[in-house]
Amino acid sequence: MSLLPADGSRLLIDGKLVAGGDGVFATVNPATEQVIGYAADACGADMDAAITAARTAFDDTEWASDPALRARCLLQLRDALQANIEELRAITVAEAGAPTMLTSGPQLAGPIADLGYCAELAENYSWQTDLGVAAPMGISTHRMLRKEPVGVVGAITPWNFPHQINFAKLGPALAAGNTVVLKPAPDTPWCAAAVGAIIAEQTDIPAGVVNIVTSADHGLGARLTADPRVDLISFTGSTQTGRSVMAAAAPTLKKTFLELGGKSAFIVLDDANIAGACAVAAFSVCVHAGQGCAITTRLLVPRAAYDEAVQATAATLAGIAPGDPADPKTVCGPLISRRQRDRVLRYIDSALADGGRIVTGGGIPAGRERGWFVEPTLIAGVPHSARVAREEIFGPVLVIIPYDGDDDAIRLANDSPYGLSGSVWGADPERLRHVTAGVRTGTLSVNGGVWYSADVPFGGYKQSGIGREMGVAGFEEYLETKVIATAHGH
Ligand code: NAD
Repeated sequence: MSLLPADGSRLLIDGKLVAGGDGVFATVNPATEQVIGYAADACGADMDAAITAARTAFDDTEWASDPALRARCLLQLRDALQANIEELRAITVAEAGAPTMLTSGPQLAGPIADLGYCAELAENYSWQTDLGVAAPMGISTHRMLRKEPVGVVGAITPWNFPHQINFAKLGPALAAGNTVVLKPAPDTPWCAAAVGAIIAEQTDIPAGVVNIVTSADHGLGARLTADPRVDLISFTGSTQTGRSVMAAAAPTLKKTFLELGGKSAFIVLDDANIAGACAVAAFSVCVHAGQGCAITTRLLVPRAAYDEAVQATAATLAGIAPGDPADPKTVCGPLISRRQRDRVLRYIDSALADGGRIVTGGGIPAGRERGWFVEPTLIAGVPHSARVAREEIFGPVLVIIPYDGDDDAIRLANDSPYGLSGSVWGADPERLRHVTAGVRTGTLSVNGGVWYSADVPFGGYKQSGIGREMGVAGFEEYLETKVIATAHGH
């Protein structure tokens, strides 16, 4: 790895690549359980130094007020990442267990290209709007509305789509003129450290504008959240941690932007091609071993077509063998850690305790005892109140539930603390409109439509989060609004 020194990756603080105050920690390949190398382990003082650097870069440099510089730096970063894409791909596959095929899309190439969209926003956004003259309280006044960066952004990210999530925060936050302290997940430090090395060595991004602090200690995320010098926390992770982040941000009343968990429904209407739609649902839950917040994990099918649906879903799941993510044909790789693998297996056990049955899968695949693999699994026969139908499992596990009529399908889809995404399949446009209007989620796919794109805002209703990432809406999360009212004639 030319980007990462053999003795351990470095932190990026104030433009310099530095060792971690707590030494190094191992990063492990989830497909082989082998240590692939070591990452800098930051201590509290490192986090403090990163926040100081970000604060100084925001307060004392031109970064916040020079959108042309920001656009140029973002394009330069995009091109430098692109020039290093093969090394980044190897790190992503080995460290996140991401199937190679996904690195041509949302696991790597997609988010790199999306930095171009952020550069365009920096260049073309209407930073100033003339609200014209009015005479509130009898004083003739000219009003100007200005958009300004929020300040120092603390970005805290998970491991499942490390580049997608890191760049969906870095891109718009930087385009808007903020400075950033990024704290990636302890499971994928190299994905972030490699980006840090590229920023330091191959771009003109000024010192302190981006700081990347890898650590084995989740506590550094809490420290970043509580620090009064940080103006906004942009967090992606579990709903449970999201609650802690919101609480820890409260004493300093900083803006919190939360992208959290999901338990999205895949609704098959009775005029759809039942077997075809169920095959898509089965395939989707296997992608990256189900480790995606927006993956549809509740399959809602018409009661009259239940047996056909169970059969078609199980047949597709049984045909997808979990495999080596380095193999370009693999769809379903390993889970990120032993802890996650065991958690998924416990969920499957809980379905049996709740009266369910495992139609296919349910355990560790034969011949894959090394690495943290789980068989694609279909659970049937549980009530919708069962834990496997309510809680986020984050594995290749699908729960199939029958419904009676379109309104019942909507009711079940909405009977969830989450509201992140979903999918609806059917033939009649009027019925599809009724269902998409009724389901309360941030994104919905109809008959396989794809919402994922740089210009499309993504985020959740209810306990799936607060705010939107990507698109203009995602960019504006990183902006403040200032109004300047000048007495007319002055
Ligand atoms: P996690 O919540 O355990 O950790 C996420 C990040 O938060 C990590 O960097 C972690 O170190 C940090 N952290 C942990 N405790 C913290 C605290 N008290 N204060 C501040 N930071 C803290 O999540 P994970 O297991 O890494 O990722 C999986 C979860 O992420 C799933 O629930 C998934 O749905 C969610 N996710 C959501 C989206 C989305 O956009 N909605 C996208 C991807 C993943």
